[in-house]
Amino acid sequence: MTGFLSRSDILPWGRIPRTHIRMARPSFHDELDGLVADGSRGPNHLLASGLRRSYGDSCINGGGAMIDMTGLDHFVSFDRSTGLLVAEAGVSLADILKLVVPAGYFLPVTPGTKFVTLGGAVANDIHGKNHHRAGTIGRWIRRLDLIRSDGVERSLSREDTSGAFAATVGGLGLTGVITRVALELLPVASSNMEVQTIPFRNLSEFFALAAESEATYDYTVAWVDCLGKGTTLGRGILTRARHGNDGQLRVAPTAAPSVPFDAPGFLFNRLSLSTFNQIFYHVAGRPRRTMMSYNRFFYPLDAIGSWNRLYGRQGFYQYQSVLPAGNAEPATAEMLRMIARAGQGSFLAVLKTFGDLPSPGLLSFPMKGTTLALDFANRGPSTLSLLDELDAIVREAGGRLYPAKDGRLPSALFQAGYPALEQFKAHIDPGMSSTFWRRMNL
Ligand SMILES: Cc1cc2nc3c(=O)[nH]c(=O)nc-3n(C[C@H](O)[C@H](O)[C@H](O)COP(=O)(O)OP(=O)(O)OC[C@H]3O[C@@H](n4cnc5c(N)ncnc54)[C@H](O)[C@@H]3O)c2cc1C
Repeated sequence: MTGFLSRSDILPWGRIPRTHIRMARPSFHDELDGLVADGSRGPNHLLASGLRRSYGDSCINGGGAMIDMTGLDHFVSFDRSTGLLVAEAGVSLADILKLVVPAGYFLPVTPGTKFVTLGGAVANDIHGKNHHRAGTIGRWIRRLDLIRSDGVERSLSREDTSGAFAATVGGLGLTGVITRVALELLPVASSNMEVQTIPFRNLSEFFALAAESEATYDYTVAWVDCLGKGTTLGRGILTRARHGNDGQLRVAPTAAPSVPFDAPGFLFNRLSLSTFNQIFYHVAGRPRRTMMSYNRFFYPLDAIGSWNRLYGRQGFYQYQSVLPAGNAEPATAEMLRMIARAGQGSFLAVLKTFGDLPSPGLLSFPMKGTTLALDFANRGPSTLSLLDELDAIVREAGGRLYPAKDGRLPSALFQAGYPALEQFKAHIDPGMSSTFWRRMNL
């Protein structure tokens, strides 16, 4: 039977913080009982993790125990007539696609990488470029199984009235270890995507284009030039897409050359970034309509393995906010102005409007409004003070930050952004914890 091993090389995607933990990686479900009992009794208790594509400390349990669920990656059943898939929580979205695309199905909701597990996707109640059509992944979960530190494994359906299902979806792994998930898939007629790109000159044009696109397209997302100022403030490129109907159902391979070393810091300075953004806006921004594989549309970053090392050894922060619809335009403009003034931010700056489909989780991130996500190379105090200034705008606008992307969110802003927090706390498993949760000090 697998036990816990001391490790100091377990990092989240943003590569901050570096910490010491005890890690176990079981391969079979029957190993879990003993591991959960053992890990949850130790100092700082226990946390399950998936592929650690969360950027900060919500997928890390520094000084405590962790169960790496990626060895529990067996499929349980797949009904090709209804599209219901049942799988262990450590199965990755990449493996699900390999099984279901040839049968004419796709993930109902997918993030910008397919290298996340089903359990991780549920515990952050992830959203995708189709939020306006599909909501979060939690809306597509019919049932999940959960082991708590009392040793009991429960099956929670979405009809559950105890609150345990709502607490576990988006529950940051704090309600127990998710072992199996029953997911409804989306029927599709092609593995290709019909994609259109359209440039916009400012935020007003973005909001008009997003509203028009959401009426007829399943997927919308925009790149925004985070260094644009004055007349170029809020310029960017909107991409809208729908599944094709050419009958081709092919699994798209990922050729992933990896970044073999930590890149030097100058790669992301103001000059190189603004030059890149100028060129990108003019070249990639030419209006275009094209067909492409689902891989190229949904997962362009997966084509470069370990791209997070491009930010160097000091790592990076991602900052993802959502602002309620009524305040979104002026507050987003203010955030972009502040980022451009500071000359920080990165090429990876994403803007998207969320729809009004309610998220099922008590701590789900999306709300009707606009989300802005940016990477910031970690330059120490100057980066942290810029993020503090952005926090003030988010708070004033009644918005919130996404814990999956976070490594420094202040507890007060977390509490202000998540009104169901008290209700959630009643469902926390006393044997579970995380570095993020202890930092929130609730
Ligand atoms: C390039 C990139 C693009 C991304 N795009 C998006 C996006 O568009 N939308 C979006 O919503 N997110 C996005 N993300 C974030 C990512 O989807 C989430 O962080 C996701 O939860 C990561 O899954 P994981 O398997 O890596 O889980 P981890 O990061 O390892 O863990 C995430 C959380 O799930 C918990 N957890 C994991 N497995 C279990 C389990 N079996 N039982 C209980 N708890 C568990 C962990 O404790 C932790 O709290 C992106 C990340 C990257 C790197």
